[in-house]
Order: sequence, then C-alpha cells, then structure tokens
Amino acid sequence: MNYPSNKSRLLFIKAVRLVWESAPGWATTNIFISVIRSIFPLVLVYLIKQLVDGIAEAAGQNSDINSSLIIWYILAVVITIFLDEAATSLGNLVRNKQSYRLESYMHSLLHSKSIQLDLQHFENPEYYDSLARAAREAPYRPNTIVNNLISIARGLLSLLLMAGLLIYLHWLIVIILLAANIPGIWLRLHYAGVLYNFKREQTPAARKTAYFKWLLTGDRPSRELRLFGLGEYFTKLFNKNFNKLKEEEISIISKRTLIELVAGIFKAAAFLLALGYIAKETVSSQISVGDMAMYLVAFRQGMVYIKDVFSSLAGLYEDNLFISDTFEFLNLKEKIVAVPPVIEPGNFSSSIKVENLFFSYPGTSEPLLKNLNLGIRKGETIALVGANGAGKSTLVRLLCRLYDPIEGKITLDGKNITHMDPALYRRLFSVIFQDFMLYNLSAGDNIWMGDVLKPQNRERIKSSASQTGIDELIEALPKGYDTVIGRLFDDSRELSWGEWQKIAMARALYRNAPVLILDEPTSALDATTEYEVFSRFKEITRDRTSILISHRFSNVSLADRILVLDKGTIVEEGTHQALMKAGGLYSEMFTKQSSGYKL
Ligand code: ADP
Repeated sequence: MNYPSNKSRLLFIKAVRLVWESAPGWATTNIFISVIRSIFPLVLVYLIKQLVDGIAEAAGQNSDINSSLIIWYILAVVITIFLDEAATSLGNLVRNKQSYRLESYMHSLLHSKSIQLDLQHFENPEYYDSLARAAREAPYRPNTIVNNLISIARGLLSLLLMAGLLIYLHWLIVIILLAANIPGIWLRLHYAGVLYNFKREQTPAARKTAYFKWLLTGDRPSRELRLFGLGEYFTKLFNKNFNKLKEEEISIISKRTLIELVAGIFKAAAFLLALGYIAKETVSSQISVGDMAMYLVAFRQGMVYIKDVFSSLAGLYEDNLFISDTFEFLNLKEKIVAVPPVIEPGNFSSSIKVENLFFSYPGTSEPLLKNLNLGIRKGETIALVGANGAGKSTLVRLLCRLYDPIEGKITLDGKNITHMDPALYRRLFSVIFQDFMLYNLSAGDNIWMGDVLKPQNRERIKSSASQTGIDELIEALPKGYDTVIGRLFDDSRELSWGEWQKIAMARALYRNAPVLILDEPTSALDATTEYEVFSRFKEITRDRTSILISHRFSNVSLADRILVLDKGTIVEEGTHQALMKAGGLYSEMFTKQSSGYKL
C-alpha cells in the first residue's frame, strides 16, 4: 500500500473548492465583509489628517470658526472606528458559521472515506498515521486557506492604498517599507516547511501518546489497569512520549523566535528612517501637522498590512503542505470494488463455491489459506471446525468479501463475486463475528443495527430477541427495549458478556439475510443457555443457509455437513457419523474433547 505525500502541488485551489462546496453563501458574505473592512483604514487615515489639520488651524487662529467642522470630523472618525469594529465582529461571526459548515462537511468526507476503505488499510499503521494527520488538518485547514487568501487580497488592497499615500511623501519610504519585511517573510516560509516535516515525522509518536492516554483513561483498560497496578507505568510512558514531542516542537519554535527578533531589528531600522524623514519634513514645514499624522499612521498601517500579506502568504504555503495530508487520505483507493462487467448479486438461488483459493494478510508472506475448495448449497447447515489459528474466521471474512483472495475465486450461483458491488453482495450475509460489536445504544437499536436500512420493526426485534432468549431480560430493564445498554452514558445498564452475545445473535437474526454465519456464537454462554440456544438451532437456521464455527463438537454435530480446516485447507468433509467412522483429524479432535469431560 502506498501512502504518498503530494506536497508540491497547488492543493490550496482544491481546498478552496471544498470551502465553496460546503457553504457558498457564507463564503460570499465573508469575502464581501473582508473587502469592506479593507477600505475603512484608509478612510480613517484621511479623516485623522483632516481632523489634525482642522485642530491645528483652529488653534493657530485662536478662533472657533472651524469648531463645527472639527466636531463633524470627530464624529466621522468615531463612526468609522465603530463601523470597522462592527465589521470585524460580523466578520468573525460569519467566519465561525462558515467554519462550522466546513468542519461538518470535512468530517463527512473523512467518515465516508473511512467507511468505504478496505479492511486491508486497517491492518496498516500507515493508514492510522494518514488518518490521524487528515483528521487533525481537515476540519479547519481549508478555511484557513480561504481566510489567508482573503487576507492577502484585503492586505494588498489596503497596502496599495497606503503606499499610494506614502509615495506622495517619498518613493523611498515605500521601498523601505517593503525591504524591512523581507527577512521576516523568509523566516516564515522556511519554518513552515520545518514545522510541517516535524509534524509529519511525529505522527506515529503522537498516536502512541494518544494510545497511552486511552490506556489511562479508557473504559476497557480500566479493570486490568487497576488490578495489575499499571497506572504509574503507563503514566511514565505517556509523559516520556509527550515530553519528547513537545520538547522538539518547542526547540523549533525557540529557533524561530530568535530569528524573529533579528527580523524585528530590520523593522525598527525602517521605522527610524521613516520617522526621521517625516519629522524633518514637518519641522521644515514641507508638510502640515495633519499630513505628518496621516503619514505616520499610514507608515505604521503599511507595516501591519505588509506583515499581514506576507504572513498570510507564508500561511498559505504552510496550509498547502498540511492540506496535502487530507487529500492523501481522501485519495486512498479501495480495491474491493465491483470489477467490470458489473453484475447484480441476485437472491442466492443455488450455491456458493470457493475454488482454489489462496489468501494471506498484508505483510505476511506465507499463504494462510492454500488451494482451498468448498461448496455450500442453498439451505444447508455447514459446520467449520479446526484448531485455533487454522483460518476459520479468515475464511468467513473472505466469504463476506471483506477481503479478496490473492488467487482463486468465490462464486455465488456460478458468478464470480468480484463483479458484484461489495455492499450489495454483503446484504446476503448476516454474521455474528467472534469480536462482535457492543453498541452503547438502546437494546432495541442494538438489534435493529442488523437491518438499519429499513425502519425499525418492533415485532421482529422482539421475536429475534426471544429466539436467542434475551427477550425477558430486555423487558425487565427500566425502559424495556428503549433502555440504553453499556456503561458509557447516563441511565444505561451494563450487560454480562454472555448477554451481549445473545443481543449480537438477535441482531444477526433480525437481519433476515439468506446466509447466516455464526463464528463461535455461544462461547460466552453458560452450558444451560447454550443448550437452550442450540435446541432452537434448527428453528433459527430454518429457511437459511448457515455456517457454524464452534469448538464444541456437541453443537457441530447439528450440521448437515462438517468441514475440517487444517493448515489453510479443507482436509475432511462429511457428516458427524461419516467423519467419526473415517477416523481422521475430526474423530481425533472429537475424541480428545469428549474424553476431557470424563472425570
Ligand atoms: P481461526 O478463526 O481459525 O482461529 P483466524 O482466521 O482468526 O483463525 O486466524 C488465522 C491466522 O491469521 C492466525 O494466525 C492469526 O494470527 C492471523 N490473523 C488473523 N487476523 C489477522 C489480521 N487481520 N492480520 C494478520 N494476521 C491475521
């Protein structure tokens, strides 16, 4: 799998498109307010000049001729300042609304990508690094890009207006203004790259820190953590990783600060020259006091704008680096897709066949499943047995097309499943995985999750629950089927592992798919409950094709046919009686297990 980095391209253009797609209205308003805001400072500078000149004239004449004009100017200055402030506040509000829209849009892009990706990606640490980087940057980075672009445009406009003013004073002042900022700009650009590379390299360490944090604060680790007294050790590991991360970051920022201070000297020198010249021109009466005030403010503002423009430019460069991580994630390709010519899965009318199948997990060389062949007829109940690690669960994942074989094929009614849309094909299956999910939702919802595409059907939920024997327990909960189960949220009730397993079974039954796969469905049930469930087994699997994986041979003998998996291939096949008679691996395993019970 390749997780390329595509930093060189002008990705910010793509990011702007994302912002536009997420909230075109707010983006337009944001641009509009920003343009308006860039005009206020110039108006203010001009009004201050008029005001100072008016005051100076009035003071010189010692009369009150100009006093009403002065009052008007004062009012105009105050109103302009107010409008500027108001536009700033409104601009913030608009930006917030826009970033909220964008955030939600980006989350949905990331989530839908994550849902579509093949399981293979989840085996790869690089996937988690890529996801972590994308999740860190995606929600806000495109907006930063737009704001930086707006800020560049606004800053340039204001700067142009201010420079237009200053050029009247002396063209050299404009040059000084620009030159004084060059070291600062270089600095930002250089450190944007340094910081980006640092963050990219540090993603695995940052994930490790997050992992230790979860070990210290999560629900699942909480019991072992206490019993084995692991808290202090994990705290140490967390601190070690956290401090290493932060110390390196601080050291980069320290270097940057030092150079920033040097860059500051250039700016101070520029001020010295400009102030000296303005003072000289005023003293020699080349310019009025009002002009002096105007030029001083214009020079200061010019400095601010130029800083804004260039830090936005550097910011844009930085954004372009960081947004590449988001696109890198969004561009990951799924391999488990419908290969043309695409065909409909249909309804499963005759058989599923596995032919000469080879499979290994990514990163392992030796095939786990080798030259595996098997056939399942519609309506049959098959049991799959084999030692731990023989590959039974893996075979189930391949049958459901969560993975594709490396060689060989799986056919449904004679058609290769690689030509079918995986999501449509998977609708034919209902599975209780060995590591089934616990959803901290209501009991009813937990069962409904089996067929979430259709509206909830309370009757079916109840009948599925009663088939697995969990109905009574749910009815007795404070809010019955509406009681939230699990322990994450308020007003919820935790269940035992065996009870969760029954819920998971009810979920699988609710799905009502033609093929039911039960991977160790009763491992956590006590003997009595297991007996109850299996005595209903025929009823549960009625009208369905089922595959049962179990280590308990008493359950396995319920199947029409038993397949024995060993070293990645099917070594025996037949009914319980036939296999016992054959005296092979199955009979050996069965005899061992049943002799284990003899005291
Ligand atoms: P079984 O269900 O027969 O106990 P599995 O199919 O779960 O066996 O596992 C078969 C082998 O594949 C085991 O050795 C296991 O370590 C390995 N394995 C299982 N899942 C993965 C995975 N996601 N990535 C790599 N190896 C895996």
